[in-house]
Formats: sequence, structure tokens, C-alpha cells
Amino acid sequence: MTSDPKIWRATVLTLFPEMFPGPLGISLAGRALASGLWALEARDIRASATDRHRSVDDTPAGGGPGMVLRADVLAAAIDAADAQGRPETLPRLVMSPRGRPLTQARVAELAAGPGALIVCGRFEGIDQRVIDARQLEEVSIGDYVLSGGEIAAMTLIDACVRLLPGVMGKLSSGTDESFSDGLLEYPQYTRPQSFEERQIPDILLSGDHAKVAAWRKTEAETLTKSRRPDLWAVRPVAPETAKKRKRPKNTTDG
Ligand code: SAM
Repeated sequence: MTSDPKIWRATVLTLFPEMFPGPLGISLAGRALASGLWALEARDIRASATDRHRSVDDTPAGGGPGMVLRADVLAAAIDAADAQGRPETLPRLVMSPRGRPLTQARVAELAAGPGALIVCGRFEGIDQRVIDARQLEEVSIGDYVLSGGEIAAMTLIDACVRLLPGVMGKLSSGTDESFSDGLLEYPQYTRPQSFEERQIPDILLSGDHAKVAAWRKTEAETLTKSRRPDLWAVRPVAPETAKKRKRPKNTTDG
């Protein structure tokens, strides 16, 4: 593991450090990790347990099923990670289904920073007091419940890593993808030209870049409107279009 402070670093606190790098060690993220474009450290929360049984959880106060990750153990694990001289600006995240949903905009912010400390929950969740005391930002990857935060953390890390300088190289700039302009991406095609009697749209083979761009924009807008009306309603609008939208109906351009 590299300790260069200029390198984007993910420090993951988990009860299952052996799950890492997992899929993050493969393909784009894996090659970037191997070549030192980012760094990953998976720390075992259990190493901060103090009792004979190395227990990390206990029954929920007030009763109910399952177990809760203890505040004292997790706080000690966070403090031990902090003691390694992390930048004060390092975001501290905790993966949680009740967190703010992760967006491409938040991913881009995180990727532009020094990295992140990411806590992975397990069991029924985490004692609220450590979330408050260590000011952890709760982040959700969607409205469903996973059995632990590790896969959620990997999702977040993967989304950030592909935006780091040098990671995607010429493959893609990351600026022409779903969500980058508030829209879903247009449909993609490649050879063969004919597949089970379905053809690539003629316009994509026309060589007319302006027409291709216009077709893609229309497709992206149509898809976003029908599949994600929530995104469509809040999409960023070019200033010229916004002006036109505000104009009263009886105003003419002349
Ligand atoms: N009892 C919790 C609830 O109802 O909100 C669910 C706990 S879940 C079984 C265990 C851990 O998985 C959570 O603490 C969190 O770290 C992680 N997790 C589960 N679903 C997630 C999601 N959609 N986004 C982010 N993390 C999630």
C-alpha cells in the first residue's frame, strides 16, 4: 500500500477486511490500484475490540431482533485510522440504507478530494452515538437492504476511482455518461451492423457528427423523460433554454 498523501485513498472499516479488494482488484479499478493511481486500506473493526471474546456487537437497547455494532469499538477503530495522519478534510462516510442516496455529483466531489474513510455496517446497524460523535455522513446506494456495507462501499469506491485522473485514460472522459448532464445515456451500438434482423440506426453510420450528436441528445432526453421523470424534472437547463421557458406565451422574438 502506498502512503503518498497526493494519492486518492479509500480507508475501509469493516468486520470482513478479507472481502477487499475483491472486485476492486480487477479490470479498470484493479489496474489503477496496481499502478498506484489510488490506494486502498481495509481495516478490521474487530482489532479495536477490547474484551476477551473480541466482541463488536450487542443487543439493541429497547429490545428487538438482531444485534447492533457497538459505539465504543467502532469509535476506537475510527480513531486508530485517524491516528495514521489522515487529512482533516477527509470525508467520513458510513454506508447505510437510510443515508442520503449516492449521486454522480457526490461521487465527483469525493473523487476530487483526498479520498474517504468508509465505515461498513453489519447486523441491524450501528449505535447512533458513534455516527453523531464522529460526524459520519450516512450514504445509501439505493432503496433496498444489503446484509452489510462492504458491497455498498465497493460500489462507492468504484464509482469514484473511475473518475480519478489517468484511470479511464482515453477509454472515456466520464463527462458523456449517464447523470453527467442530468440525463440518462443514449443507446449504444457496435458491429455487427445487423443483429437478428435489427439494424444500427442509419444516422449513426452517416458520418455526420452534428446529426449523430443531435440524435443522441434526443434519445437521452426521451429515455430520461420516460424512465426517470424525477431526474427530468430537475435536469440542469442551458441558460438560453431557461430564458425561453420563462417567457410569457404572448411574447415574440421580434
Ligand atoms: N436495520 C438496518 C435498516 O433497516 O436500515 C439495515 C441494516 S443492514 C442489514 C446492515 C448494513 O448493511 C448497514 O448497516 C449498512 O452498512 C449496509 N447496507 C445495507 N443496505 C444498504 C444500502 N442500501 N446502502 C448502503 N449501505 C447499506
